[in-house]
Amino acid sequence: MPTRTPTRDQGQWAVSGRSPLNSDEVLKQEADGLTSRDRVISTYSKEGFGSISQEDLFARLKWWGVYTQRKQGIDGHRTASLTPNELSDDTFMMRVRIDGGQLTTEQTKVLGALSHEFGRDTADITDRQNIQYHWIRIEDVPEIWERLEAVGLRTTEACGDVPRGFLGSPVAGIAADEIIDPTPTIRGIVDQWIGSPEFSNLPRKFKTAVTGHPSIDIPHEINDISFVGVVHPELGPGYDVWVGGALATTPKLAKRLGVWVSQEEAPEVWHGVVSIFRDYGYRLRRTHARLKFLVEDWGPEKFRQVLEDEYLHRKLHDGPAAHPDGSPDDHIGVHAQKDGNVYIGFAPTVGRLSGPKLTAIAEAAEKAGSHRIRLTPYQKLLVLDVLPERADELVAELQQLGLQAHPSSFRRATMACSGIEFCKLAFVETKGLAARTVDELERRFAGETIEPPITLNINGCPNSCARFQVADIGLKGQIIKGEFGFQVHLGGRLETGRHLDESRLGRTVRGLKVTSEELPDYVERVVRSFLAHREEGQDFAHWAIEAPEEQLA
Ligand code: SF4
Repeated sequence: MPTRTPTRDQGQWAVSGRSPLNSDEVLKQEADGLTSRDRVISTYSKEGFGSISQEDLFARLKWWGVYTQRKQGIDGHRTASLTPNELSDDTFMMRVRIDGGQLTTEQTKVLGALSHEFGRDTADITDRQNIQYHWIRIEDVPEIWERLEAVGLRTTEACGDVPRGFLGSPVAGIAADEIIDPTPTIRGIVDQWIGSPEFSNLPRKFKTAVTGHPSIDIPHEINDISFVGVVHPELGPGYDVWVGGALATTPKLAKRLGVWVSQEEAPEVWHGVVSIFRDYGYRLRRTHARLKFLVEDWGPEKFRQVLEDEYLHRKLHDGPAAHPDGSPDDHIGVHAQKDGNVYIGFAPTVGRLSGPKLTAIAEAAEKAGSHRIRLTPYQKLLVLDVLPERADELVAELQQLGLQAHPSSFRRATMACSGIEFCKLAFVETKGLAARTVDELERRFAGETIEPPITLNINGCPNSCARFQVADIGLKGQIIKGEFGFQVHLGGRLETGRHLDESRLGRTVRGLKVTSEELPDYVERVVRSFLAHREEGQDFAHWAIEAPEEQLA
């Protein structure tokens, strides 16, 4: 099929030059976002919130993971009508990038201490394997940076129009059935290019995911670039490369480039793809700037050709498609490592932790012989390298903290974004509602096991940070006739981690919206409808995509 070539000037640097076509592009050209760090240290932290320039406050500080948070007490009815200044508090959300979700227990203790001292004990695991604090004062930011950097952590490019924190397989390097350990790829890229001015002015954010696990334990279809472990019949283990996936208000699933890339080649290919985005990405409208729009217009064949001809100056090998082997991709529970130890996956409810909990997790892990922790893209965490004889003890200890290694289906498969509690774009509450809903569903389904778990992804607005379009039950926050609630999306699915023939976005049913109060009743109703009407072996996503509307209401 011929690809559509956009005819109007889209602000692509390689086509029309660098004259900025909107205020965001002007701002990025006037001063690189990375330059804001110096001003935080020299001025803002000393003179306080009021000294921060508007450009740094609402844009450039993001390049250092520092983002204004929602002023307390403003409900969702006013989200769309207030200005950013009216919506913003004088404290910040701070995102710490944890590339590949890989932490030591020492780093985890530092994260816990900083949460306690500076973040009013907030610490959420995001579905991009970051740790997110709230309530951070600008006065404290230099000390937080110093203490993070002393243990090899940083907030560099955790937000902004840059390469954001990398998703990586949480079992990288330890799983017995791993095709390829993605750690050298992640480290090779991050160490060379994160914080480099080469990629500090992209058209929009750029998201990367890398795995070598056969379950495909990262959502590879919804990242700007994904490297997925695959075995080439002649060349051996390497990566299948996908580009141009992203959700938000115009969701698009990534496309395969059809290439096989070795571990050694992967950083160079990543560099080439980000360079294409920088040079050919659309900069006219922010809502049309993500890589997915360019990939859609060019198609994967042209994209590959430009990558090979203009950036790599050589041809890549054709390669086979990676498919998940159907094993669970969330790593919850106790599992054997290749070295005889075990790793244990725990489910904190919707990723919510705290300073003391982070510290306690690290101490409990050390008692069990471990010095390594991993965060997952599903707001969960793993403790690695546990001595098998200590596993039960660790499971019991973390259970006391509300982290379950054998959670109910609902606790295991529910995610929620920040929502009204801290996010300026939110219409509704998410995390608290999700936690109450999980508790209620556990009570109502006590003694029943639902396999595979039904994913419930709760989002405070259409931006889809918690991926409502690719959940079994996806909820998009909105105001419904004056009440807080959600549009319901059903049967969305990624191929990731399941035996599926295709990935697709969830369906909506005309008029199907639920208020926040009705949520537990609705989820119970639709799950019971599924259990009553499904065919033998059918999972929720298959059933929901085909079910008559009356069974979904
Ligand atoms: Fe905020 Fe919306 Fe993202 Fe939730 S989905 S964190 S409400 S922008």
